[in-house]
Amino acid sequence: MMNKNKIIYPGTFDPITYGHSNIISRAANLFDEVVVAVAESSKKQPFFSLEQRINLAQEVTKNIPQVSVIKFDCMLVDLAHQLNAKIILRGLRAVSDFEYEVQLSGMNHQIAPDIETIFISASQEHAFVSSSLVREMASIGGDVSQFIDPKVQIALKQELLKKKC
Ligand code: ADP
Repeated sequence: MMNKNKIIYPGTFDPITYGHSNIISRAANLFDEVVVAVAESSKKQPFFSLEQRINLAQEVTKNIPQVSVIKFDCMLVDLAHQLNAKIILRGLRAVSDFEYEVQLSGMNHQIAPDIETIFISASQEHAFVSSSLVREMASIGGDVSQFIDPKVQIALKQELLKKKC
């Protein structure tokens, strides 16, 4: 049986930002179960390991009981079928996200017409936040405390130090 109250929020989360957690908490107001699905994304060569990205996402969402965090390395629609979920959630920031997101959801819908993608637009204060810019700023010593959780900040600092050595 498909579960209409379950939504999957997929992404690389490299690392999870306040932009992501804003989308997650808003989805948790609407759905009984929000599954944050962390993509292995090996092609993107993520900065953080899959394990770190999962741990940080768990840490940041631990106070929201509806949220669980899992990893995946298969087709998104296959994951949705495996989890008996009907809905995929993506966040939209700017027009620049739009083209890619519409393409992705269109292809997914063609492959699996029983799965729908829905979008939540970024809140104004988080509309400019991206994981890649946060990493870039932090790497040159910028203050990223407005954009990521303190625990993510610590992990980012540690990882940057490790990679410098
Ligand atoms: P991906 O590599 O799949 O794009 P990301 O981790 O970058 O994964 O993003 C996951 C989802 O969250 C995407 O739909 C992305 O558009 C959205 N997102 C990223 N940053 C924000 C933000 N600041 N506000 C709202 N949505 C965001």
